[in-house]
Amino acid sequence: MLKLIPQPMKIEYISQEKFPLEHISLGENLISRVAQDEFLKFCGMPGGDANIIFETDSTLQEEAYVLETGQTVKIKAASASGQLYALETLKQMIFQSSGSLEHVRIEDSPKYKLRGFMLDCGRYIFPVSDIKKIIRRMALHKLNLLHLHLTEDQGWRVEIDKYPLLTQIGSIRKKTNFDHKVHGGYYTKEHIKEIVEYAHAFGIKVMPEFDIPGHSRAAIAAYNELTCFPRKLPVADHWGVKHDVLCVGKESTMKFVYDVLDEFFEMFPDEYIHIGGDEVPKHRWDLCPNCRKKRDELGLKDSDALQFWFMNQVKDYCKAHGKQAFMWSWELEDASDIDTDLGFTKCGEMDTGDRPFIDTATNAYYIDLPYGYVSLKDSAEHKVLSGNCLGVEGTLWTEYVPDMKKADLMSFPRTGCISETGWHGECGWKNFSQKLEFYYSFLDKNNIGYAKPAKANPKFPMDKLSILWFERRQLAWEGLTNIIEDKKIERLAKSNKKGCD
Ligand SMILES: [Zn+2]
Repeated sequence: MLKLIPQPMKIEYISQEKFPLEHISLGENLISRVAQDEFLKFCGMPGGDANIIFETDSTLQEEAYVLETGQTVKIKAASASGQLYALETLKQMIFQSSGSLEHVRIEDSPKYKLRGFMLDCGRYIFPVSDIKKIIRRMALHKLNLLHLHLTEDQGWRVEIDKYPLLTQIGSIRKKTNFDHKVHGGYYTKEHIKEIVEYAHAFGIKVMPEFDIPGHSRAAIAAYNELTCFPRKLPVADHWGVKHDVLCVGKESTMKFVYDVLDEFFEMFPDEYIHIGGDEVPKHRWDLCPNCRKKRDELGLKDSDALQFWFMNQVKDYCKAHGKQAFMWSWELEDASDIDTDLGFTKCGEMDTGDRPFIDTATNAYYIDLPYGYVSLKDSAEHKVLSGNCLGVEGTLWTEYVPDMKKADLMSFPRTGCISETGWHGECGWKNFSQKLEFYYSFLDKNNIGYAKPAKANPKFPMDKLSILWFERRQLAWEGLTNIIEDKKIERLAKSNKKGCD
């Protein structure tokens, strides 16, 4: 029996016969040159007469394919993506074939439209070459949405012509969680073009994230007037929720947001955009004359309602430019103030009505979390959250992920489960565990790092220790620094001498 990840929708074993594979040559097809080369490199076999034959079948769904093995391999699909997914399945078949292919017919199509992987480039920047590696890893798993988290408290990562200080100042922090070395960097517009083109070559769309109105300390460090109580604030050097957020009561902030979005729209042609919306403390807004004035003008009951107004406004702007916007569902107790066409990356079970969402459940798909929090088994057993689910996403935050080595260790093997659920509709530990040995060897073959079984499903006390390690510094940094700053702002607001400009 073949082991395949993700599990195809239907495999038919036609006969016991096996077909020796002595060379590989692709017939005429729609797949990009770079993805074809990846396939041929993986196979490492001599060329010859075309023995993988492609047929276009426009009756098939966009990403579906039919793969039939025999004297030749026949692939039917409607698009380049369908053809590429057939080759990805074929790779896994060849890998376990011992030189002869099984005689099968596979009919396959994805359960979910969006199958994502989020990389947080805000905490740590990843070079373009690493992002290309991630794109190739995604293609192996039939994932099709690269979510790039590009703006954060700890770094602004994308060149914006109209606001050069965003990268000149906002892309650099003085130290990191791990050491006292300066960390920084950003993607130029050329880099972004290169990333988007490479992703497209593997059938992957790019969803950029402009995280607002919270997690904006890097932007505020560059342009102090963006916050309610402007003063010199450095780019944050450590993780945690920061209390200085964008002042949404000022027209100038709205202009900034729309200007940045305009340049995002130019750089990222795909239809999805993420506008953040997570972890927005309202302390400054409650005290800020501009935010209070805006609240009163709009007749809103509190600062939470002000945030929902802001998110809806930004969504409208994106929609007017043909984009489907998403926001994080974090801390959302009541979604009723969010317009029904604003989507969520949904972190847990909550009533989101008909709003479209991508399942990023923290207890299964937050793949930055230690395996003590989210074991491989947790990722495998996860059932998609209820509601209008468009798909799933593995979410790799990088507070503690400085490089590709760590990124791989956290992402794999958990990404295998996300691939299963996104493509096949479910994973399940029983099924996945039976394929695990094959999966580890396939990851080895592709030079992808991973957590070994004992680490991926840790037992007591290793599970608890991994959590302790993760949380050890949060209290001091998140708690203490915010309390000190809050008191300062309260005095400022009271004295009424300074305050919002
Ligand atoms: Zn304000």
